[in-house]
Amino acid sequence: MRDVVILGSTGSIGTQALDVISTRRDEFRVVALAAGGANVALLAQQILDVHPAVVALARATSAEQLQLALYAEVGRRGWAEGRARLPKLLIGPDKATEIARMPVDVVLNAITGSAGLLPTLAALEAGTTLALANKESLVIGGVLVTRAAAPGQIVAVDSEHSAFAQALRAGRASEVRRLILTASGGPFRGRSRAEMGSVTPDQAMAHPTWSMGRVITINSATLVNKGLELLEAGLLYGVHLDDIEVVVHPQSIVHSMVEFHDGSTIAQCSPPDMRLPIALGLTWPDRLADAARPIDWSLAQQWTFEPLDHEAFPAVDLARRCGLAGGTAPAVFNAANEECVDAFSAGHIGFLQIVDTIQRVVDEHLGGTGIQGHVGDDELTLEAVLAADAWGRARARALTTGGAL
Ligand code: NDP
Repeated sequence: MRDVVILGSTGSIGTQALDVISTRRDEFRVVALAAGGANVALLAQQILDVHPAVVALARATSAEQLQLALYAEVGRRGWAEGRARLPKLLIGPDKATEIARMPVDVVLNAITGSAGLLPTLAALEAGTTLALANKESLVIGGVLVTRAAAPGQIVAVDSEHSAFAQALRAGRASEVRRLILTASGGPFRGRSRAEMGSVTPDQAMAHPTWSMGRVITINSATLVNKGLELLEAGLLYGVHLDDIEVVVHPQSIVHSMVEFHDGSTIAQCSPPDMRLPIALGLTWPDRLADAARPIDWSLAQQWTFEPLDHEAFPAVDLARRCGLAGGTAPAVFNAANEECVDAFSAGHIGFLQIVDTIQRVVDEHLGGTGIQGHVGDDELTLEAVLAADAWGRARARALTTGGAL
C-alpha cells in the first residue's frame, strides 16, 4: 500500500492520477489532496470518492463554496447523514506546501506554474519521493531543487522525461551521448511567424494530440513548454543543454529518445496517454500493469520526424540561453511567460507578443538593464528566485499593458 498526496487534484494531471488510483484502491491510499479552489464541485466529488484525511484549498474565498458543494454531493449520492467522512480542511496559499511535508510514500506535484516551487522543496526536504508534473518548480528553482533532492528522489511525470528515465535504463550514464526531446509541434506546426500573427486563444487551445490544462496547452502552442522541458531534462539527468536536441514528432507516440555513444538510440513509445507516466511516477521503479493502452500494431501507421523551425518558434533557443545562464534566468523566463499566457488568454495581447515579451524581459535581466540583476547558480537562494519571479511578472505585466514593446 502506497500513501499518496496529490497536489493539484482537480487539474488535468490530478484527475488522471485519481483515475489511475480509482481501480487500484488496494495499492494506493490518498492521504491528502490540494487544489486552488476554482472547481469546488469536482473537489467535493473527489473528497467523497477517496476520503482523504486532509484537504488543502489555496483560495480562502472558495472554502464556504466547498462546504456547500460537499453537502450537495452527499445529497446527490443519497447518502445518509454521517456516512460522509469529511477531511480536515486547511485554507490558504501555503497549505499545499504544508501537506507536501506529510510523511507519505509519494507526493504528486501537479499544481500548475511557479506556485509549485515551495511544495516541491517541502516534499524533498521531508525526504519523500516526488512525482513531479510541475516542471516549473524544477526549472525556476534550478540547483536549489536538484541540491535538495537525493539521487532518484524526483521521478518525472512529464511524458518526455518519463521516456528518458525509461530509456536511460538501457545503458550507463557515461555511455549517454545525447537526449532527443520530441515535440508534437503544437497546433501551429508548419506555420511561419507571419502566419501566427492573428491566431486566437481558442486556436492555441486546440492541441492536436494532448488534452491538458490551459497554461501547458498555450505553452505547447508557443513551444515555451518544450523550452521548459529542455531545462527540466538538463537538471534531471545532468546532460549539458547543448547535448539535448528537440525534434518534432507530430504523432506524439515516441515520447523521447536517448542516444548512446555506440550509435544506438533507445526510444520509449506508447499512445499519447498521461496515465502511463503518471502511474510510473507513482510506482517507480516498478511498472503498474495495464496503466494505459499499448500501441495497436494491427493498424497501419506512420511516425514522422522533422527538425524544429527555430525561426518561427524561438522559445526553445531562448530557454536554452536562460538555462546556460542558470541562476535566476529560468525563473524570469517562466514568470514572464505565465503573465503573458494570462494576458493572451484574456485577449489583451497577441500570440507573437508572448515570446517577444519574454525575450525582452530576459534580455533586460541578463543584460543588466533590468532592476532585478541576474544571480548565478553559485549564489542562488530561494529569496533570489522568488524576487526574480516577482520582477519577471511585474516587468512582463508592464510591457503587455503598456501597449507596444
Ligand atoms: P491544470 O490547470 O489542469 O491543473 C492545475 C491544478 O493545480 C488544479 O487542480 C488547480 O486547482 C491547482 N492549483 C493551482 N494553483 C494552486 C495552488 N496555489 N495551490 C494548490 N493547487 C493549485 O494543469 P495541468 O494538470 O495541465 O498541469 C499541471 C502541471 O503538470 C503543470 O506544471 C504542467 O506543466 C504539468 N504537465 C501537465 C501535463 C498534462 O497533460 N496536463 C503533461 C505534462 C506536464 P483549481 O482547479 O482549483 O485552480
